[in-house]
Amino acid sequence: MNTEDTRLALLAVCDAVLDSEELLTEADMAIGDGDHGIGMSRGFWAAKRQLDAKCFNSVTDCLKCVGFAVISKSGGASGAIFGTFFLAASKETEGETEITHQLFERILDAGSNAVANRGGASPGDKTMLDALRPARVAASNAKSLVEALKAASEAAAAGAESTKEMIAKHGKAKSLGARALGYPDPGAITFSIIMKALANSS
Ligand code: ADP
Ligand code: MG
Repeated sequence: MNTEDTRLALLAVCDAVLDSEELLTEADMAIGDGDHGIGMSRGFWAAKRQLDAKCFNSVTDCLKCVGFAVISKSGGASGAIFGTFFLAASKETEGETEITHQLFERILDAGSNAVANRGGASPGDKTMLDALRPARVAASNAKSLVEALKAASEAAAAGAESTKEMIAKHGKAKSLGARALGYPDPGAITFSIIMKALANSS
């Protein structure tokens, strides 16, 4: 994916997150405070406007634009977490002209390390990392970018589904303990939506 492909793929990501606002609101109402859908919409709406209006010289700039928009507009824990992911992704692509399957794997690796450092979550804690980490593992076996995106998308969806069986160690769902069992983590759903939109746009 060159700069223009990346810009278009990220626009598809923004649209997918915006289309999912209601679903994400419901997921966060079940085990949180219900603001995840509106928060993500705010950030990805701001990102969409900039991706539409500005000129971008690199894949790095495209990813940075999304990171800053989400960090500054989404708010909540997820604004910092998803913003951190995109900014780490942007940093990993510095000096590169296109996203290959090897770079995509490095992006997921850098993103998951940055999110873990930022929020202190571990695998199994019922956060978006439980969708991100399996995506990273799945992408590492791929032989092309199309294959990597498809594998990451499927693994992220399965990872989000697996959070139903987890007890939350972070965020608002933590106080629910075992009462959050049976409900998926909202941020993990968002991450799987992002991966699916990327895979569909490739
Ligand atoms: P808030 O919890 O402030 O209301 P949101 O509802 O927008 O924020 O987002 C909640 C989501 O953020 C969770 O579903 C989870 O995926 C993610 N999240 C929260 N805390 C962390 C953390 N420490 N590490 C990784 N992800 C986290
Ligand atoms: Mg919330």
